[in-house]
Amino acid sequence: ITGLMAGKRGLIMGLANDKSIAWGIAKALSAAGAELAFSYLGDALKRRVDPLAAQLGSDLVLPCDVGDEASVDALFDTLQQKWGRLDFIVHAIGFSDKDQLRGRYADTTRDNFLMTMDISVYSFTAVARRAAAMMTDGGSILTLTYYGAERVMPHYNVMGVAKAALEASVRYLAEDFGKDGIRVNAISAGPIKTLAASGIGDFRYIMKWNELNSPLRRNVTQDDVGNSALYLLSDLGAGVTGEVHHVDAGYHVVGMKAVDAPDI
Ligand code: NAD
Repeated sequence: ITGLMAGKRGLIMGLANDKSIAWGIAKALSAAGAELAFSYLGDALKRRVDPLAAQLGSDLVLPCDVGDEASVDALFDTLQQKWGRLDFIVHAIGFSDKDQLRGRYADTTRDNFLMTMDISVYSFTAVARRAAAMMTDGGSILTLTYYGAERVMPHYNVMGVAKAALEASVRYLAEDFGKDGIRVNAISAGPIKTLAASGIGDFRYIMKWNELNSPLRRNVTQDDVGNSALYLLSDLGAGVTGEVHHVDAGYHVVGMKAVDAPDI
C-alpha cells in the first residue's frame, strides 16, 4: 500500500487524541503517502492534536466548530488558500448530551434532539458541500456511523436516530456528487473505547457483548477502521459510493448466536 495515496491531500475532522477513530484513519492514510490537514474543536484539544499531526508530518492544524457556519467557512477558506484543491475528507464527529445517552429515547428533549442532529448529521452535509467544491479532480468523502442506526442498541437513543439520518445523508450526497466523480461513504464501526464512547451508558458491557457474539469473536481496533477507510478513500474503492460499510467483526449479520447443545 505504500504510495497508494501519494500525491493525494485530505482533511481529517474529529481527531481528539490517540484513541480517536480519526487517528486510526490518519495513520493508515499517512502510511500510504497521503498529505493530511486536521481540524480540531477548541483550544484545549489543539495541544493534543498538534503533536499527533506532527508525527504524521503535518503542520496544517486548523480550528473548526461544525456547529458554527462561520467557523466551517473559515476552515475551508484556509484550505482553499493553502492547497487550492482536495482529494478526500474524513468526518469523524458526533455529539449528544451525555445525560441522554442512558435511560429512554422517549425522554429526549427538543433542545438535545436538535443539537445532536446539528452536530452529528447536518455538519456532514455542511462540510461535504464545501469539500466537494474543492474536489476538482474527483474525490472521496467518508463519515463514521454505528449499528444503533439500524437496530435498537442500549443507551444509544437519540444518537441512533441521528446516525440513521447520517446514513441517509450519505446516499443523497452520493447521488448529488457522483456525476463529478466524488464518492460518499460511511464506515459503521463496532464499539471502540474513545472519548465519545465513554459518554455512552454501560459501554464496557456493550463491548464485551460484541466481543462474545460477533463472528470474529473480538472487537475491532482503530487500525481495522483505518485500513478499511484507506480502501474507501483511495482508488481501491473507485466503484463504491453511497455505501455503509460495516467494520464490526461481523456483528451486524448475527441474528442469534448458536449454542453447542441447546437444552430445550
Ligand atoms: P472521539 O471523541 O475521539 O471523536 C469525536 C470528535 O468529535 C472529537 O474530536 C470532538 O472534538 C469532535 N466534535 C464534537 N463536537 C464537535 C463540534 N461541534 N465541532 C467539531 N468537532 C466536534 O470519538 P470517536 O469514537 O473516535 O468518534 C468519531 C466518530 O466515530 C463519531 O461520529 C462516532 O459517533 C463514530 N463512531 C464511534 C464508535 C465507537 O465505538 N467509538 C463506533 C461507531 C461510530
